[in-house]
Amino acid sequence: MRKPFIMGNWKMFKTTKEAVAFAEEFKKLYQSSDVVAGVCAPFTQLAALKDAFKGTDIKVGAQNMHFEENGAFTGEISADMLNELGIEYCVIGHSERRQYFNETDETVNKKLHTAFKHNIIPILCVGEVLEERDAGKEFDVVKTQTVGALKDLIAEQVSALIIAYEPVWAIGTGRTASPEQANEMCGYIRTVIEELYSDEVSEKVIIQYGGSVKPANASELMNMEEIDGALVGGASLVPADFIEIVNF
Ligand code: PGA
Repeated sequence: MRKPFIMGNWKMFKTTKEAVAFAEEFKKLYQSSDVVAGVCAPFTQLAALKDAFKGTDIKVGAQNMHFEENGAFTGEISADMLNELGIEYCVIGHSERRQYFNETDETVNKKLHTAFKHNIIPILCVGEVLEERDAGKEFDVVKTQTVGALKDLIAEQVSALIIAYEPVWAIGTGRTASPEQANEMCGYIRTVIEELYSDEVSEKVIIQYGGSVKPANASELMNMEEIDGALVGGASLVPADFIEIVNF
């Protein structure tokens, strides 16, 4: 059985001081359960958050990393640097990185390989833009992104992977995909994994939905059969909202 996995994605929000204040508040509200929960924060907050969540099972993830081991890449962060902080998860290929920082299926694939090599579990983001959905191309787009991202990964790695289906038109817009739309695409991604690997692998991979998840819609989305959790942007910034989603 797959455990629901609910991760906050803080994007470029919060100073370290604000992050620690969130952690102190969130710890008071949080109770360990079958739901795996955590936050993916900016690099400068990771060490403080690991420290603040010590002794709890609340996870801390990064939002990006470079695929090279090290080198002359000014401004970048390596997997080793994340390992040193004990970071277990990293968002890879978020649509904002694809849109504003030129990430492609190829760089996403390289990052997945590097992450697995360093025992960091990737949260791979895929999803279509509105014009693609309107043109009826959403399944093709998501399949191409998924196949490209997984190139040359072995079954054991993909079994441990987390995929977040995030339709770009639903991110930060307040316009959530309907539970049926989200469920349909999460189920489709699972069949793509089954074709590429096996039924066994496809049953293990965790597939989240992301895009305007909030306390009011979390339980409906999370209770859909193919949706194993959520990647939550805006609503993960406030402890009282995020805990409601975690406790869906
Ligand atoms: P949102 O962001 O919840 O604010 O729509 C989701 C995401 O980008 O991961």
